Amino acid sequence: MPSYVIPEKCDGCKALDKTACQHICPNDLMVLDKTKMKAYNQDPSMCWECYNCVKICPTQAVQVRGYADFVPLGATATPLRSTDSIMWTVKFRNGTLKRFKFPIRTTAEGTAVPNGGFADHGDLKSTALATEPASLGLPVVFSLTGGN
Ligand code: SF4
Ligand code: SF4
Repeated sequence: MPSYVIPEKCDGCKALDKTACQHICPNDLMVLDKTKMKAYNQDPSMCWECYNCVKICPTQAVQVRGYADFVPLGATATPLRSTDSIMWTVKFRNGTLKRFKFPIRTTAEGTAVPNGGFADHGDLKSTALATEPASLGLPVVFSLTGGN
């Protein structure tokens, strides 16, 4: 199920230039209604359910209804991030609460090395990494770097 915003919890990221959910969505789905200062998902059918907006929202205002293989039907899963861990609070239909805490990184915040330290031979700019050719309606994905 796609993401949705709980209006009572959303503060519009306190009117920053770009809200956290707008910044993080890989599909540019989140928009801010500036008259109400509430964000919303402008095209739920395009949502990947990647949970990025759920995890980054500072007020826990974004939810995704989880599938049954993730949480039981009707349960909610709400994340709370810190600099080195994330804690998920699962609330079941009968009100039972369970919390799961996981480490999220092995390096200090801000020290991640782009490309993981591997040499960039141009592959990262290849259009072959963009998507599968079938979804583009092409027999192959053509690349300016010569690969496909
Ligand atoms: S990140 Fe959360 S608080 Fe900020 S605009 Fe989006 S839904 Fe609202
Ligand atoms: S779940 Fe992912 S794709 Fe869907 S709106 Fe949030 S960030 Fe965008």
